[in-house]
Amino acid sequence: MKTEHVKADLHTHGRTTNRFREGDFNKIVDAAYRNMGEGCVVGIVNVGIQSAWNFERIIDLKGYDRITLENSVYVPEKDVLIIKTQQVPTNQGHYLAIGVPAGIKLKQYKNLENSLDEAYGLGVDVIKVADPFLRFQGIGKYILQNPGLLEKFDGVGIYNGESETHIPFLNPKHSNQQAEEFFNEVKWKYPHLFGTVISDGHSFYEIGSSWIKIKSPKIGDAKTMNNSLKENLKHPRAIHRGKSNWGAIKHTSKLATIIALNKLGIEIDDDKYLSYEKKFSQ
Ligand SMILES: [Zn+2]
Repeated sequence: MKTEHVKADLHTHGRTTNRFREGDFNKIVDAAYRNMGEGCVVGIVNVGIQSAWNFERIIDLKGYDRITLENSVYVPEKDVLIIKTQQVPTNQGHYLAIGVPAGIKLKQYKNLENSLDEAYGLGVDVIKVADPFLRFQGIGKYILQNPGLLEKFDGVGIYNGESETHIPFLNPKHSNQQAEEFFNEVKWKYPHLFGTVISDGHSFYEIGSSWIKIKSPKIGDAKTMNNSLKENLKHPRAIHRGKSNWGAIKHTSKLATIIALNKLGIEIDDDKYLSYEKKFSQ
């Protein structure tokens, strides 16, 4: 990358839905550029739930000239690197795979240890504990019982912008504080771990609203990029903890609606949410 030190938001979804349209590639690059400046890294999250393979949907849209790399896309004009990531739910909670090779979709709801082995076997090099104390998703309690598992991770999420919106029974208070305390405690015994500060945004508006500033990763083949990213994340220069309130309310209320309607046997169409999305993403 051209910029020596870059801001990175490694976990952002773009939308609550998987519906992207022509023009969205540039909107994502522009949002990253607006919030983090020239020279920034964006991890666009794929999630198997609702077939939200957002990275693949976005990179094929028309827009800025780009260089397609093995697990990322680089836009020279803005010095923006978009990395393919995947949020993987397992039987014990979620993790985030960063820099997933093209064509790879990791399977969901497997036993954690088997899922990690499979991911590393498929060429994933960077895996972090995603927000360890989030309700329903957090893997923290399981790791506290099995701390040796941290050998299998490269990093731990210490701040998630979406978790700052406290919604009773869904988003608990203090999950970020708990995550940071957990990281500070374990990093002495597991110094190979990096910590991340991410938006977990679900709208274009929130891309790059939280970030961690690091030495820019080397771009090129996947191994080179992954290893430099992993190393540079261990030495953050600055962090910014923003809030992804809008996305949190929309995302959580949507999930609650989907769960409630599914219990009644009704499947809902994502399109009805797009009008809200539009307001904040133009
Ligand atoms: Zn997420």
